[in-house]
Amino acid sequence: MILWLAVAALFAGTTQVPAPQALVGANGTRALVGATLIDGTGAAPVSGATVVVRDGRIECAGRDCRVPAGAAVTDVSGRWIVPGLVDAHVHFSQTGWADGRPDSIDVRDRFPYEQVESELALHPEKILRADLCSGVTSVFDNGGYAWTIDMAHRERDDPSAPRVASAGPLLSTIDFWLNLPAERQFLQLKDADAARSGARYLAARGSDAIKVWFIVTPEQTAEASTPAVLAAGEEAKRVGRPLIVHATGLDEAKVALKAGAHLLVHSVWDVPVDDEFLSLAKANGTIYCPTLTVIHGYLRLNQAAVSGKPPVLDDPNGCVDRALVERIEAPGALPAGKAADTVQRLEKVVPGMTSTMAANLKRVADAGIPIAMGTDAGNPLTLHGPSVYAEMEAMQAAGLTPMQVIVASTRGGSLAMGVEAVTGTLEKGKSADLIVVGADPTKDVANLRKVLLVMRAGGLRPQSELRAPSP
Ligand SMILES: [Zn+2]
Repeated sequence: MILWLAVAALFAGTTQVPAPQALVGANGTRALVGATLIDGTGAAPVSGATVVVRDGRIECAGRDCRVPAGAAVTDVSGRWIVPGLVDAHVHFSQTGWADGRPDSIDVRDRFPYEQVESELALHPEKILRADLCSGVTSVFDNGGYAWTIDMAHRERDDPSAPRVASAGPLLSTIDFWLNLPAERQFLQLKDADAARSGARYLAARGSDAIKVWFIVTPEQTAEASTPAVLAAGEEAKRVGRPLIVHATGLDEAKVALKAGAHLLVHSVWDVPVDDEFLSLAKANGTIYCPTLTVIHGYLRLNQAAVSGKPPVLDDPNGCVDRALVERIEAPGALPAGKAADTVQRLEKVVPGMTSTMAANLKRVADAGIPIAMGTDAGNPLTLHGPSVYAEMEAMQAAGLTPMQVIVASTRGGSLAMGVEAVTGTLEKGKSADLIVVGADPTKDVANLRKVLLVMRAGGLRPQSELRAPSP
């Protein structure tokens, strides 16, 4: 038994995050000096800035900060300091490949779903490490198995993991089959009563939000689901939880707004958003999370299945668990099956969706509605951690300024998670969650790929120490 535990500890240890540098001064203070500070509020960058951290919190950030006597000082001249990135839309119950979404391409004959899910639940540290390694210091799990809620509670103030908030099981307008024999991640919104009991269950279970998966099919129209979605919103308000809604059509997005959605994930991609949508969103104070790139992951997955060639992974800092990378890149990893049909179907619709999503993001941002960056990480080829880079670049390509993208990826995400009082900007009293990057992200957000240092709750690590270890 003891031997087994020791072996298990060793195994778990391989993906644990190394301890942060013990470079705090005798009085618990640290200072980063000389960099250009981008504080996440949208204010102009401040050159020659100092950030003072005491006991894991920002004590001062700006040009006029005095370095306290005895502080450990790190010279970061010529670099940029940005708040840690916030991915406001992830799913810890999904791996980033087909094995966690057998409804995309079914690989269950080699990777049984119940085993894949057990691995995720037993080893969330692989994903948490990939996040930190990529510069992501907060993540919002938008739906999955109930264990993700417990993880959020555990990791809240842990310098070895990003801050996590979790919605837990999703309230779905359709009866979706992707569940485990004794655990559900989808609770069906059969009617208003089901919505109320679902929201009450989630609140009692400790979830940070009530997530509605608003799927519209010819059999289950937006109109037919409206009473249940409105009831979910009412009950969410009653139990004091923000409402997150997955909505991709304008009709269901408006129902979501009428239900009081705090966070809308996925863009409206069928038609341009209209004035009614914008005024409903403004009246609500809704945050819009565009999630532009996840659909391309599905396309690339199916293209890989057709060609038999492994997809090119975008992980510039080597953050993704090596076992997962090997699984994705294994020759013949994916059966061709119906992939050719899927590629044809997606290639027909993705360009139009992409341009509608981009135009809608610009319109929503121009209307002054807050934006949060969120990748939908966990979906096939949308990798936990590094997928933030392509998402931010797509937001910039849609017409947002680099500064708008930075604010959406820091303060915007913290607003979405409801943690804006503790993180998301570099201001006095906030958690010291920041990254140091090697080139100016206000010129091009692609420079956020150049992560050099990651600080989480005051724990500072060189990015190189966070890379995924060899298996
Ligand atoms: Zn999602």
